[in-house]
Amino acid sequence: MTLHDPYDTSNIFARILRGELPCHKVYENDHALAFLDLFPQTPGHTLVIPKAEATNILDFPPDLFGPYMSAVQTVARAVHVGLGADGLSILQFNGTAGGQTVFHLHFHIIPRHAGVAMHGHGNAPMAVEADLKQQAALIVAAFQSG
Ligand code: AMP
Repeated sequence: MTLHDPYDTSNIFARILRGELPCHKVYENDHALAFLDLFPQTPGHTLVIPKAEATNILDFPPDLFGPYMSAVQTVARAVHVGLGADGLSILQFNGTAGGQTVFHLHFHIIPRHAGVAMHGHGNAPMAVEADLKQQAALIVAAFQSG
């Protein structure tokens, strides 16, 4: 996919947004949905996607960045608290040449612990279902704790 290919409504995240595919949801509001990455670079790796259709950062409606980035920050805070992270790596890829593999705009929130390496992007093993459930519960509880 180049940076200028049109949005494909059959992409995996569009299907998750429509409820056609499952996800381990941790947050949702009018503008964004957040769920755990199936191939986490560290435990608790979370994706925040906008509800608006956008292939990448270039075609996202500028007036929606405020609420979308606010959701990214909200989720980052909960991932930090829920996973007890010392740091957060927040990543975002655009176009095949930029490393993007799912063509619906998203930010990766990757909890980091001091001295612990993360798997490379596109180079992580598939998560175990029970671990995803547990990590999602920790993040959801962090929202509820304040
Ligand atoms: P990117 O390469 O930046 O487009 O990131 C896409 C991310 O989506 C990767 O980290 C994948 O592991 C992740 N991913 C792919 N399919 C799913 C899925 N069905 N549910 C959750 N995460 C997924």
